[in-house]
Amino acid sequence: MTRPSPAAALNGVETGHICDCCNRRIQTGDKAVAYATYYERGGWTLRRIWCGGCGDRAISNGTDGADEVVVEAVYWQGRLVSVNAVDRSRPSD
Ligand SMILES: [Zn+2]
Repeated sequence: MTRPSPAAALNGVETGHICDCCNRRIQTGDKAVAYATYYERGGWTLRRIWCGGCGDRAISNGTDGADEVVVEAVYWQGRLVSVNAVDRSRPSD
């Protein structure tokens, strides 16, 4: 079964608005960076959210060989919009 594109799956997803790195409040219209992992049951699931100044654009430490993605997006009233994948780590890599 083909997995949905992470950018498409995460577009419009609800997210917190406190940066996981600097605790800054992310405001509507701000750029945000997010990290998600694919789960067989839940699909693409957000794990981390950062403000535009903090986000790590590359996947540095993999988690259990999971399918992971880092996306850039715009935070808009509690959701991510204009999502673009910037790095991806597939289990087979
Ligand atoms: Zn931050």
